[in-house]
Amino acid sequence: MSEKFDVIVIGAGPGGYVAAIRAAQLGLKTACVEKWVNDKGATVLGGTCLNVGCVPSKALLESTHKFHDTQHKNAVHGISADNVTMDVKKMVARKDKIVGNLTMGITGLFKANGVTTLAGMGKLLSGKKVEVTAADGTVTVYDAQNVILASGSLPVNIPPAPLTDGLILDNEGALNIDETPETLGVIGAGVIGLEMGSVWARLGTKVTVLEALDSFLAVADKDVAKEGAKLLKKQGLDIKLGSMVSGTEIVDGKVKVFYKDSKGEQEITVDKLIVAVGRRPQTQGLLADDCGVKLDERGFIEVDIQCKTAAAGVYAIGDSVRGPMLAHKASEEGVMVADIIVGHHAQMNYDVIPSIIYTHPEMAWVGKTEQELKEQGVKIKVGKFPFAASGRAMASNETDGFVKIIADEETDRVLGVHMVGAIASELISQGAIAMEFCSTAEDLQLMCFAHPTVSEAVHEAALAVDGHAIHIANRKKR
Ligand code: FAD
Ligand code: NAD
Repeated sequence: MSEKFDVIVIGAGPGGYVAAIRAAQLGLKTACVEKWVNDKGATVLGGTCLNVGCVPSKALLESTHKFHDTQHKNAVHGISADNVTMDVKKMVARKDKIVGNLTMGITGLFKANGVTTLAGMGKLLSGKKVEVTAADGTVTVYDAQNVILASGSLPVNIPPAPLTDGLILDNEGALNIDETPETLGVIGAGVIGLEMGSVWARLGTKVTVLEALDSFLAVADKDVAKEGAKLLKKQGLDIKLGSMVSGTEIVDGKVKVFYKDSKGEQEITVDKLIVAVGRRPQTQGLLADDCGVKLDERGFIEVDIQCKTAAAGVYAIGDSVRGPMLAHKASEEGVMVADIIVGHHAQMNYDVIPSIIYTHPEMAWVGKTEQELKEQGVKIKVGKFPFAASGRAMASNETDGFVKIIADEETDRVLGVHMVGAIASELISQGAIAMEFCSTAEDLQLMCFAHPTVSEAVHEAALAVDGHAIHIANRKKR
């Protein structure tokens, strides 16, 4: 007889592993199926985020930021350093070590919480049975009371730029470049394009980013996109908008990239090319024809607001379902589903999911953009405070960017918080907390923020909503 679990999770990324841990904490007999193996053939947990996504990219961003500051920014403090060098192989090895430690950490957490790891490819059969095919071909079928599909996503490849060993790379290959290229092309000025482009631009690579759309960061608030474009250009990122790649050719170990813009056919030659044009749900081999789960027209697993699929007792979360492809969104859906399974009341607030781009300065936002609200006909008040007016930002020599708070003109409720700034990734949680607690701009105005802190910019932006910021001239006409 096959072993039976209360919950079987397929996929151990930030959606799946968090769901599994929460389910086990709630007293459910839980297993998690994972097919990812490392170069030694061992199963690794953590999914895209820990292995080839959030964590390794941030490790490279941090290393190159320190290098860049040492070379170009610290002199203002009186610190001089000649002949600063970067050992790229060491930087990549450090990144790999962090990944190893974190993925091992998840293995430890599974053990501590009593989650069983089932190594292999998982497939949902009808009747909530899960078939697991191990690397050696052994097939085992398990019974589950509940199944959580958390199979994540894969990079989108485009026919004009087929992946080519060491030359045309997806995000995984891009994280393993171990020598500074002289020139780098990136297709797609989205999150990965800007983060990976920044990594190499800081090391002196001439980076050209080809973006099909005519507008830069169309998803962001227009002020964030404008400021981001200006600052990244200053850092040497050559972002060519309205540029559609039509083909590539490998010539003498370099990549020729052909693209079309408003002026006609163009070409550039680069040492390496990163393709970063988005990700697609990973569902190949996951679902038996008769399992009852449906996919939508774009290949995402169809779910309702509680992540329930069309099959009773089967849920799906994370990158393989609708919504932003973000690790924290995947994890929160995992927690919600585990809670629902044990009968708790649980729901996720999809209106308050922060987004961050880890360039320097960082760009971050939560809630609605000014252009979205105007399109919806919502009457708004906007307060903006530049870091150039913050004492703490000046002390840190990090004065680029601003905090922008948008509130409803009638109710004063905070509808969106948008920022560009050195530590925007940390500050944005203040906006998320405020919005989650249905705060008004006045609530933020009446709070006492510690001085001197960069967070005071959030306070001042809230005050600026009503023309009351203290450290900028912002008096509103009465
Ligand atoms: P995944 O992390 O993709 O995990 C899915 C897991 O399921 C994988 O381990 C896969 O092997 C396994 N799996 C799939 N099918 C099966 C099967 N049939 N059987 C067994 N196992 C299976 N997000 C952020 O929030 N912040 C960031 O800073 C950030 N940076 C990123 C940087 C890069 C370069 C990339 C590529 C992504 C980044 N993301 C970031 C996005 C983030 O990684 C994803 O949103 C997140 O990993 C999604 O989690 P998930 O659990 O849904 O899927
Ligand atoms: P993305 O959707 O952020 O950006 C893709 C960009 O490529 C878009 O600007 C799009 O217009 C452009 N594009 C698409 N097809 C093109 C083509 N043929 N030629 C030129 N440009 C083209 O996707 P991504 O950067 O690949 O990232 C994938 C996902 O991973 C994102 O959804 C993101 O949520 C997640 N991610 C998040 C973070 C973070 O939270 N900091 C970091 C990296 C990745």
